[in-house]
Amino acid sequence: MLNKAVEVLQKYFGYQSFREGQKKIVESLLNGHDTLGIMPTGGGKSICYQVPAMLYDGVTIVISPLISLMKDQVDVLISMGIPATQINSSLDYGEVRDRLRMAARGEYKLLYIAPERLESEAFQALIKDVPISFVAVDEAHCVSQWGHDFRPSYLEIARFLRSLPERPIVAALTATATPEVTEDIRRQLELVDERLFITGFGRDNLLLSVRKGENRREFIQQYLRANAQQAGIIYAATRKDVDALYADLQKRGFEVTKYHAGLSEEERAHNQEAFLYDDVRTMIATNAFGMGIDKSNVRYVIHYNMPKNLEAYYQEAGRAGRDGEPSECILLFQPQDIQTQTFFIEQNQLLEERKEHEYKKLYAMIDYCRTPRCLQQYIVQYFGETDAQACGQCGNCTDETELSDITLEAQKIFSCVKRMRERFGAALVAQVLKGSKNKKVTQFHFDELPTYGLMKEYKEKEIVDLIQLLIAEGYLQVTESQYPILKLGERALPVLKGEERVVQKIVIRPVQLTEDDELFEKLRTLRKEISQREGLPPYVIFHDSTLKEMSSLC
Ligand code: ADP
Ligand code: MG
Ligand code: ZN
Repeated sequence: MLNKAVEVLQKYFGYQSFREGQKKIVESLLNGHDTLGIMPTGGGKSICYQVPAMLYDGVTIVISPLISLMKDQVDVLISMGIPATQINSSLDYGEVRDRLRMAARGEYKLLYIAPERLESEAFQALIKDVPISFVAVDEAHCVSQWGHDFRPSYLEIARFLRSLPERPIVAALTATATPEVTEDIRRQLELVDERLFITGFGRDNLLLSVRKGENRREFIQQYLRANAQQAGIIYAATRKDVDALYADLQKRGFEVTKYHAGLSEEERAHNQEAFLYDDVRTMIATNAFGMGIDKSNVRYVIHYNMPKNLEAYYQEAGRAGRDGEPSECILLFQPQDIQTQTFFIEQNQLLEERKEHEYKKLYAMIDYCRTPRCLQQYIVQYFGETDAQACGQCGNCTDETELSDITLEAQKIFSCVKRMRERFGAALVAQVLKGSKNKKVTQFHFDELPTYGLMKEYKEKEIVDLIQLLIAEGYLQVTESQYPILKLGERALPVLKGEERVVQKIVIRPVQLTEDDELFEKLRTLRKEISQREGLPPYVIFHDSTLKEMSSLC
């Protein structure tokens, strides 16, 4: 049976072989099992039902949420010589009737249907004559209120299946793999003894990395300069961020375009086109951009902010490298992102249970930003694949790192924050620890505190960096306000009491200032030498300016 499927795949679709996950799903369907297939965006879910559709007798119904997606798929099928059509709200009764009559005569192999149509009485009367052997539910997470895209009309599907003279085989496909959603799909679609396949979440051409404490705008400018010829997407959390980043980059002479729900329809269509046809290489967008977009040569996806959960992140990041070529997915993490996402959750007035659920997913996202483990492995395990190995190529697998114990420094900082009654920001705390004679320091008599000058051998900027690090790791918190105030986090107390140590994985990531590899290596060595000679602690991070100075020494 699988041989026949491969034949169809080659003859109609022009692909040599099934991908690993596709094979299992197709096989299960051809053996007559209800099948729940979970595969990431770009994994190739369409083939999983289109190929079996060609092998079953009768007509296959595909339920799909977006008219534009449906139209694209139908066009592609027709161009490959497969008789297919769609039924959506843009058709009048006569057209619906004609198409369903043709389907009843077996003139179509696949019939795409918008879920809203299932409720129409006219449709229900006409569909009775169509010999349906197989129903595929695409984007099946839309049936779940736990998913990110709930469509009430998806709840009609079960009733539709029951109304048919003979229950067809059902395939449900989605990229959302959380247990709640999976369980919901199973229940709401009334799947029978279904086989579950979760595959292909590891996309080994995606080079994942998380960067903490970068100056995000500078990082992006540097990145765009180095990758000017490549197409890429930069996601930001809000329209305001998109507009600001867009204006900033444009002012600096970068060719960029933007997309968010606040733009007019024409503007959105125009900008999207410009990006799709490579007229403009860089798209700056909110998460409104991307659903159903199949641009194969996206070489990087940068997240300016941490998204609300890993499902959202991987869906967006996964728009890179759909052609299988190596592509970068970079997440620029800032501690404030946690406050922003918390604010979004609180603002939504969710039911208590639902809220807890959203927080659980947010914490997994934060964990991703902090974990020293392989990022690829972390994601794949989150999505339920258990036998993943470390990828050997993500940021965490390849960064040169050193472990260092910064317990003492952390204790000094925490105690200073406490002595200052958790009422001031990072800059002032750093000044007090440095022993600065700044007016504000003396004005509040902070120069009389026992923590005054406790870290005077450090540069002020280095203390601020350590504070940022402690914020990123959750030891310190900052308030979301115009002048963010430092507070002790829960993790700080055991450290202050001496019960726990702070061991920090420090990334030694030299900024690539030059494309000349030899010079680059020289810089790295030089930097190590300077560290040792100057007796600098290993966690002192060099700043771009230091590196630039050093490069002039070479
Ligand atoms: P999904 O719905 O899972 O996001 P699609 O079905 O849109 O993914 O497929 C994504 C891309 O992968 C498409 O460009 C498709 O042509 C390609 N593709 C799917 N299956 C195969 C295969 N077996 N071999 C090569 N390319 C494939
Ligand atoms: Mg799809
Ligand atoms: Zn890895």
